Amino acid sequence: MQEKLINYTREAFQSAFGSQAERIFLAPGRINIIGEHVDYSDGFVLPAAIDKHICFAVKKTKDSKISFFAKDFNDSFSFDVTEKQTPVSQTWVNYLLGVFNAIQESGKEIGGLEIAFSSTIPMGSGLSSSAALECGFAYILNEIFDLDLTKKELSLIGQKSEHTFVGVKCGIMDQFSSVFGKEHQVIMLDCNSLDHQYFEANIEGCSLVLFDSCVKHTHLTSGYNDRRNDVDNGKKILWKKFPEIEKFRDFTIEMLDDARAEMGEISHKRCYYLLKEIKRVEKAAKALSEGDLDYLGQLLNETHSGLSTEFEVSCNELDFMVEETSKELGVLGARMMGGGFGGCSINLIKDENVDIVIENISAKYKAAFNIEMKVYRVKISDGINEYKENEFVI
Ligand code: ADP
Ligand code: MG
Repeated sequence: MQEKLINYTREAFQSAFGSQAERIFLAPGRINIIGEHVDYSDGFVLPAAIDKHICFAVKKTKDSKISFFAKDFNDSFSFDVTEKQTPVSQTWVNYLLGVFNAIQESGKEIGGLEIAFSSTIPMGSGLSSSAALECGFAYILNEIFDLDLTKKELSLIGQKSEHTFVGVKCGIMDQFSSVFGKEHQVIMLDCNSLDHQYFEANIEGCSLVLFDSCVKHTHLTSGYNDRRNDVDNGKKILWKKFPEIEKFRDFTIEMLDDARAEMGEISHKRCYYLLKEIKRVEKAAKALSEGDLDYLGQLLNETHSGLSTEFEVSCNELDFMVEETSKELGVLGARMMGGGFGGCSINLIKDENVDIVIENISAKYKAAFNIEMKVYRVKISDGINEYKENEFVI
């Protein structure tokens, strides 16, 4: 399935380094079925790795240099593994150097490599190309230099790289999904404890289709911080009133309503969304594994409505897209995906209706905003792995 990307990356390696790559690795992007903004509030998320990848073509060398060729930018970078690294001006390099730095700090030995990579994960659209890049490289180092790192450690190294070298204080969901993904399965993940459980994704007859609004409103960071403050205020008051409750997810709506006057309408609204969303994730995992797609779709719709009116992190473009999509025949559910203020919507659509829904929504979106939306059809796939050419040849 990924042959085209693999061949393309092999050729990139050949032209950059003048020899054949020895090994090929694939690191996927991810979707999140449901569980938005709950990762920092004791909730679960329900992500899955998808069939869009960064492909790495790799060769071990005898010297102490690691050389990268980023085919999609036609840009290169080299460094010496015996030296301490600090962030550089090329953003894409920092995701990789941060991984190297985290591993070097842990005292593990790394040698020379040549790596060319190229991707089918759109960058900056909320499908976590960054996590695929970081964790893909961490995985490669682990395999080639026998570092004995666990999958959990690889996820945390990816996250640490983004925190320290890129300066993005991301959660752990993206990295975890890219590393731990499994074909046909979603991961119910507690982002605090990293406890996780797999659920079958029984979506036969339906497709998961992403519509990229191609907008990114700049108030994302301040919006995110404001939401956190609203939620923290609400939590403080809830715990003052009900100190016996251990985890935020164990507060009931009755308790929340009890604390409403004291916390104010805004915090009440935000916490209401979160408590409902946390419950929706559990319901959605069950619905998915039982193949109850009508109910799953309904939960997705509820999430969108919550994100739009209670948590207030949507935007006109996403609201329009989701509202119009929901009206179409064969659409079981639609919602914005990710932090908000732009990015993609995720849609659960009956297979036979996918083409016409895409056609209709593209036209309507173009007419309303004069923007060509992008469409990604995704399948739930395995996490990072090495591609073995002759695996199926007897
Ligand atoms: P997302 O993770 O949602 O795709 P981010 O802004 O977190 O968006 O990460 C995107 C960044 O990751 C890019 O700007 C680039 O620096 C790096 N990146 C992702 N894919 C590639 C690629 N194929 N080649 C080089 N850099 C990449
Ligand atoms: Mg990212």
